[in-house]
Amino acid sequence: MHEFSVTSQIVEAILKEAGKHNAKRVVAVHLDIGKLTFLGLEQVRFSYEVLVKGTILEGSKLYIEEKDGIVNCRSCGYEGGFQYEDDPIYHIPTPTLRCPNCGETVEIEGGRECTIRDMKLLISEDDKTDAD
Ligand SMILES: [Zn+2]
Repeated sequence: MHEFSVTSQIVEAILKEAGKHNAKRVVAVHLDIGKLTFLGLEQVRFSYEVLVKGTILEGSKLYIEEKDGIVNCRSCGYEGGFQYEDDPIYHIPTPTLRCPNCGETVEIEGGRECTIRDMKLLISEDDKTDAD
């Protein structure tokens, strides 16, 4: 399950960052997930719930913003959304690397991100001793 390992890395990164700030709890997490990652958002949410159990992330709110795929054509200067084609095998629209304008191969500009955009931490009040 691809989503589980990706989400596990995200949770690890959040815990690390929260630790740096001596956070008591993580209240909310905002993620940007590009459509070209092909991650199932429901699976990401499910994995998240499983992974945060027993950590300071337990009970936190997970917000996911889906980012559209953006391509750039060197040939004609087209920049915008992906062209989708019906996959004859799976019968689902799949993005192609063909420019919808001139048919040349385009470069991916966005949509492959999977990043932590923001998080809301609860910093411990009674823990302001001189640690360093
Ligand atoms: Zn083009």
